[in-house]
Amino acid sequence: MKTLQEIIDESSKIVFFGGAGVSTESGIPDFRSEDGLYRQKYTVSPETMLSRGWFFSHTEEFFTFYREKMLPLEAKPNAAHKKLAELEEKGKLLAVVTQNIDGLHQKAGSKNVFELHGSIHRNHCLSCGKSYTAEEIAASVGVPKCSCGGIIKPDVVLYGERLDEDTVSGAVRSIASADTLIVAGTSLTVYPAASYVGFFRGKHLVLINRSTTLLDRKCELVLHGKVGEILSEIKV
Ligand code: NAD
Repeated sequence: MKTLQEIIDESSKIVFFGGAGVSTESGIPDFRSEDGLYRQKYTVSPETMLSRGWFFSHTEEFFTFYREKMLPLEAKPNAAHKKLAELEEKGKLLAVVTQNIDGLHQKAGSKNVFELHGSIHRNHCLSCGKSYTAEEIAASVGVPKCSCGGIIKPDVVLYGERLDEDTVSGAVRSIASADTLIVAGTSLTVYPAASYVGFFRGKHLVLINRSTTLLDRKCELVLHGKVGEILSEIKV
């Protein structure tokens, strides 16, 4: 913790790269932990149910799963989200690059957030492009339909879909210009997102995760624990 505080004290261009583990302390399950979504029993795997193919071939089943598991509208930012917003406000953090789709970084006050996998808070009609809120999707029954009759699709990147180019280039540019990269709450197994940490050229590479990752051995500092608990101890 002392080393982490020293690194943060001497850094002025921190970038945070996070995943589902950043939101578990807000009560949102991740995918690959013991209590994660992928350990629960489904007749069809979550990877299939969250794929582009399934969205178009089994639209109603997609939305049943999506509304039940992917729309945690009651969740609140935890200490990790709040500390990162504070670091940005104090001019020490350049950007948050997240694989999460829950919008909790923005809810905590973060401004420069690159959502690699999109957001549950943006939804649009596939026919006319009209926008809808996550609350409207949550309140819908069956397949959510636009006033024009078109299907409303969440702007989340499903398996088999491309990442948004502007989001990726913004994320990569931020990581490449950072003096410190903090990677946290991610298994680093979802590609291409996980590969973007490879663009880091700065001084301090820090990893905070509950379990080990392939990046551990490349890091200057590895803290195995809960990211919210750890970041809450940092003084800004
Ligand atoms: P993952 O489930 O593959 O891995 C999560 C990692 O976080 C694990 O290594 C786990 O040990 C660690 N972890 C869990 N809680 C933690 C905590 N409190 N502190 C520190 N570490 C913790 O998640 P991933 O790597 O982000 O990849 C999965 C994909 O799942 C992403 O693409 C993301 O879009 C999606 N997802 C998002 C949400 C969300 O938006 N909150 C939730 C579930 C999944």
